Amino acid sequence: MSKEIATIARTREIMETYDLYPKKGFGQNFIIEPEIVRHIAEFSGIDETTTAVEIGPGIGALTEQLAKKAKQVLCYEIDLKLQDVLKDTLAEYDNVKIIFEDVLKRNIKEDLKEIGAEKTAICANLPYYVTTPILFHLIESETDFESITVMVQKEMADRFNARVNTKEYNGLSVLLQYLYDIKIVMKVPKTVFIPKPQVDSIVIRFVPKKDYPIKDLNRFNEFVKGCFTQRRKTLYNNLKEFFNDKEKAIQVLNDCKFDENRRAESLSVEDFVKLYEVTYEG
Ligand code: SAM
Repeated sequence: MSKEIATIARTREIMETYDLYPKKGFGQNFIIEPEIVRHIAEFSGIDETTTAVEIGPGIGALTEQLAKKAKQVLCYEIDLKLQDVLKDTLAEYDNVKIIFEDVLKRNIKEDLKEIGAEKTAICANLPYYVTTPILFHLIESETDFESITVMVQKEMADRFNARVNTKEYNGLSVLLQYLYDIKIVMKVPKTVFIPKPQVDSIVIRFVPKKDYPIKDLNRFNEFVKGCFTQRRKTLYNNLKEFFNDKEKAIQVLNDCKFDENRRAESLSVEDFVKLYEVTYEG
């Protein structure tokens, strides 16, 4: 068996053989530390009964570890130049399927159905330029992933997991914390990538909460974003503009017994749910 893909020697060899240059536009930063990819696969909890979904296999460093653990691996890779590379680097695994297309254009639920997936989990080192759209796409895919374990830029992880009354706390923090139990799994220094990114990374794990009352997540998301439109303004001012109705803004704040001078960043996830329910469900 050849050396793990994530070793620096093997990565360099693959890049030379295929005349590969990491593409900034596709957010390509390849991991060159085998222990880290092994840990990520380990933390994902993926086992022989799970279909792992990986977004952006790159040259296959993490895919290889997932293929060893999972029943099967479904990957999405936007860079067509990696077709020949992955065919070669993952040749010894017959449980990997790669769709060479922008994941945002795919119906993940349908793709999983087609390969007979039952238990599914996401594990990926996400392209940083498109982290948030990918997370939304996963949420909107209406797929019951057991978990989502992803490496993201540290700044993004700080926002996803931000506490109330901090500058990182925003609409996305509220939505994600409403849907998932979130755990920071591991810090990853920028030195273990080719090319070296500007910032450190974090592996973060999302486990879906089993039950949540709000079904129209798009509307909830738009509402919460509306509350945060201008952070320095009061919640009342943002709501007034969101509803285009002064009276309604006062009414919903009164119904929740929230002071009109509060700002969105002081509301907990539960507070947002209450405000949303009062607004839309009376
Ligand atoms: N998994 C590899 C690793 O850890 O070394 C590569 C990770 S690299 C940060 C991100 C990967 O996502 C690249 O291979 C890139 O081509 C791919 N990618 C970027 N945008 C994508 C998209 N919209 N859909 C699918 N793959 C994408």
